[in-house]
Amino acid sequence: VKNASNKEEGGAKSAGGGPTIFDNIIAKEIPSSIVYEDDKVLAFRDINPQAPVHVLIIPKQRDGLTELGKAEQRHEDILGHLLYASKLVAEKEGIADGFRVVINSGPTACQSVYHLHLHVLGGRQLKWPPG
Ligand code: C5P
Repeated sequence: VKNASNKEEGGAKSAGGGPTIFDNIIAKEIPSSIVYEDDKVLAFRDINPQAPVHVLIIPKQRDGLTELGKAEQRHEDILGHLLYASKLVAEKEGIADGFRVVINSGPTACQSVYHLHLHVLGGRQLKWPPG
């Protein structure tokens, strides 16, 4: 099986469930600009922002959740928690009146880091449809 190509250095080595750069961010081995954190999730600014506000929210325990398309029923709670955290992040960032939450799942959707993450985007007029 051919794996997804990296979009940026230090991204996913593969879609197969190996460690990703987000493990280093969770472990605080590499710096990130943290916006929100609780016992289950971490939210930090994307290094390549696509909008004035562009925050990624990730589960601290990946637990097999490399991509949304591989989610299992046991992930329901964390998926709900991540979505609610996106609303908290939007409020914190002052964009609760208009923002977008994106999950790229799999190579066809241009997922590049295989540790599930929500993109929270806002701070400008967003267009539809996305590319
Ligand atoms: O959905 P996708 O997998 O493409 O998103 C990965 C995101 O992670 C990208 O927007 C990229 O800019 C971001 N990233 C980051 N810090 C890193 C590596 C990737 O914010 N060290």
